[in-house]
Amino acid sequence: MLDVVIVGGGPAGLSAGIYCGRAMLETLIVEEKSAGGQLMITDKIENYPGFPEGIGGFELTEKLKEHAKKFGAKIKEYNKVEKVVKEGKVFKVFAGEETITAKAVIWAGGVVPKTLGVPGEKEFLGRGVSYCAVCDGAFFKGMEVAVVGGGDSALQESLFLTNFASKVYIIHRRDSFRAIKILQEKVKEHPKIEVLFNRVVEEVKGNKFVESLVLRNKETNQTETLKVSGVFVFIGNSPNVEGVKDLVELSESGFIKTNDNLETKTPGLFAAGDVREKPLRQVVTAVSDGAISAMSAYHYIESCWG
Ligand code: NAP
Repeated sequence: MLDVVIVGGGPAGLSAGIYCGRAMLETLIVEEKSAGGQLMITDKIENYPGFPEGIGGFELTEKLKEHAKKFGAKIKEYNKVEKVVKEGKVFKVFAGEETITAKAVIWAGGVVPKTLGVPGEKEFLGRGVSYCAVCDGAFFKGMEVAVVGGGDSALQESLFLTNFASKVYIIHRRDSFRAIKILQEKVKEHPKIEVLFNRVVEEVKGNKFVESLVLRNKETNQTETLKVSGVFVFIGNSPNVEGVKDLVELSESGFIKTNDNLETKTPGLFAAGDVREKPLRQVVTAVSDGAISAMSAYHYIESCWG
């Protein structure tokens, strides 16, 4: 039996791996895709302390992985955890064919992007509809694209897309952004970006690939056609809680409730990172969660397992 299984290999999970490993706990990080989580779809992080020039999402992931491994944590990628159950004091983590047993579990399952739920969105996924500018931006060299959303992600990724696209339209459902001011200023000043406020996407249209969007102008209630070759959707995220939903309490918006020690309602099960109900979702708060949850798991194992 392992000491700790960490579910999720984003910055929270990897940081938990560093702290668990350094506390000499036998630790396994299980990640559904490749490690990195949201970092892997982020071109550059400008506000991670200690990197005034910014650091690439991929580069930071590699460093976090190396760091966790250095202290003995093992990382298993491309292995989806379906469910966690607790039997007596023992946790069973069901991952594909495998059942892993552990004394404690840190759930750092992260978030999945929300979808618009409009006609054409599913049909054109991978053929012009994308949820990842870093992954797909380069396919749109010299083309006009749209970004949907008004938060940090939408604005940051719009700026990134200007490296490839000839023009980037930002479509936002209100008349002001919720993104931080510095991003708003950059977007406002960028010659390749045009903001379309008070618009909602009603349909994604095309033939083989995306060719246009049908927008509803909320001020006039008229529909408009916007010709674009791609649409990037950044309208927030939903927490990935399915595997532990019976063991935790959820907030109204579906995130996992914890106390300051990142304990859930099930002793020995901790939650860390974006999946947790919290006031600020950033890489720096994710790695902080990782550290706290690991130390809490350490103290739990000490007191419960001796
Ligand atoms: P977010 O902050 O939740 O913003 C989502 C945006 O999408 C909002 O503007 C929202 O509009 C809009 N929206 C939601 N549902 C919609 C729908 N059905 N149709 C059209 N628009 C819709 O999400 P996020 O930008 O992905 O950011 C998530 C978290 O990560 C935040 O805490 C953010 O601060 C953080 N983050 C930080 C950075 C950074 O610091 N550089 C970068 C990326 C993300 P309303 O405004 O009208 O609600």
